[in-house]
Amino acid sequence: MALHVLDEANKCLGCKKPLCRQGCPINTNIPEVIRLLKAGEMDAAGKMLFENNPLTTVCCIVCNHEKQCEGHCIRNRMPSHDPVHFSVIEDYISTTYANKMTMGPAPKNGMKAAIVGSGPAGLTIAVLLARWGYDITIFEARDKIGGIMRYGIPNFRLPDSILDDFQYRHLELKGIKVRPHTSIGRTLTIDDLFRDGYDSVFIGSGLRKPSAMHIKGESLGNVAFAIDYLSDSKAFNLGDSVAVVGVGNSAMDCARTAVRNGARHVVCYSRSSKQFVQASQYEYSYAKLEGVIMRFNLQPVEIRENGMICRDTVTDENGNVTEIPGSEKFYRHSGVIVAIGQSAESTLISTTHGIDTNKKGLLTVDVDGSTTRPGVFAGGDAVQGARTVVEAVAMAKQVAEYMDIYMKGLPGKYKVDPYAAIPVFEDPVPDAIGEQRI
Ligand SMILES: Cc1cc2nc3c(=O)[nH]c(=O)nc-3n(C[C@H](O)[C@H](O)[C@H](O)COP(=O)(O)OP(=O)(O)OC[C@H]3O[C@@H](n4cnc5c(N)ncnc54)[C@H](O)[C@@H]3O)c2cc1C
Ligand code: SF4
Ligand code: SF4
Repeated sequence: MALHVLDEANKCLGCKKPLCRQGCPINTNIPEVIRLLKAGEMDAAGKMLFENNPLTTVCCIVCNHEKQCEGHCIRNRMPSHDPVHFSVIEDYISTTYANKMTMGPAPKNGMKAAIVGSGPAGLTIAVLLARWGYDITIFEARDKIGGIMRYGIPNFRLPDSILDDFQYRHLELKGIKVRPHTSIGRTLTIDDLFRDGYDSVFIGSGLRKPSAMHIKGESLGNVAFAIDYLSDSKAFNLGDSVAVVGVGNSAMDCARTAVRNGARHVVCYSRSSKQFVQASQYEYSYAKLEGVIMRFNLQPVEIRENGMICRDTVTDENGNVTEIPGSEKFYRHSGVIVAIGQSAESTLISTTHGIDTNKKGLLTVDVDGSTTRPGVFAGGDAVQGARTVVEAVAMAKQVAEYMDIYMKGLPGKYKVDPYAAIPVFEDPVPDAIGEQRI
């Protein structure tokens, strides 16, 4: 591993205008990190990575490297077409350095912020604001932190241990409180958070609602939506011949998970042609390597207990799809996974006054990430629509700075505690051991 890392580092030309950096949505200083590594300054390289990107240990694994840092490396233009594989270098440095990160909380500045959702956007805001002295509480609807990183991206691609380690080092050690199983917008609302003294609220609630095809058969017992299937795939019984509708990254995750769950025949269906596959080249080729079959130009029109009826389509060069009436065929399958995307869930917004959304249900924010309600900020997929982990982190980084400015600009709060002078009821402490001795 280490030899490979240094081989990759030695390939770097240390460009003055590094294209790799332009390709990274969070602007990682790639040549400088590589220079520090080669100079034997591993800790400085690790510190640089974490200061720029609190989720560096995740991004180096799940980023779409071929389109981002590595795809932009100048070495792609050489005849050898041999980019520096920075993700391998980042993985090595960040995981090595992570083990040394044991610092406790920063001194508190007396202000507190609430974070709704613990996906990459919420976690980034939490870490940065805590670093600057804010008292942070994360409210998470599920049992554990991570959002799609834990409940969408399968464990074989991103092991849970990375998120568990993040929780320990970046949340527990830093005094960030996590309130699991707490969905804001139900019993507790954003108004309640302001009532309880939070100076500002960040919404990083992502996209939780699976998109449906709205065709006959979608409610049958042998059908699952991608995000539900991925969050607990073993809970579903889809048999050993599984159809996956979609050819994006989540479709590839579903197909590869179905293979690992023992399905012997897994087919992905796309309504457009092969050139419009949305999945990354890596994910697509891994799925094929694992035996997943790809079928193109087929539009599902009905799902049945034993398979799916699809209509043929043609795709023009711009990606427009036209269905061919009368071309329907039946494709035999024991189960179907619908993997065509997610949209925003509305409970949180419908219980809060003054927060606007657009037609797609995404939160409307200003350039500083502020929503239409003062003190409430938002970021990540809930604002940008379905994107990537590193883009959620990059946006959250900017919003954190504006939240800091907003909270520091709040008028000094002179809070009178109406219960400041009330007597304290002292519980008699029973001496259980002493009583046993008697
Ligand atoms: C199957 C799948 C695979 C993907 N693979 C990749 C990949 O390989 N690489 C990549 O870069 N990106 C990938 N993505 C995209 C990436 O995961 C998302 O862009 C990113 O996670 C968005 O981050 P977020 O913080 O905005 O939201 P999320 O990660 O969705 O997190 C939102 C969190 O908020 C919580 N929440 C929601 N509502 C409430 C509420 N009312 N109260 C409290 N908590 C709430 C949710 O439970 C969740 O934990 C994938 C997406 C999917 C669906
Ligand atoms: S954050 Fe992602 S895109 Fe940026 S350098 Fe790291 S792996 Fe590449
Ligand atoms: S573009 Fe490639 S060679 Fe140039 S600094 Fe970036 S990684 Fe190194």
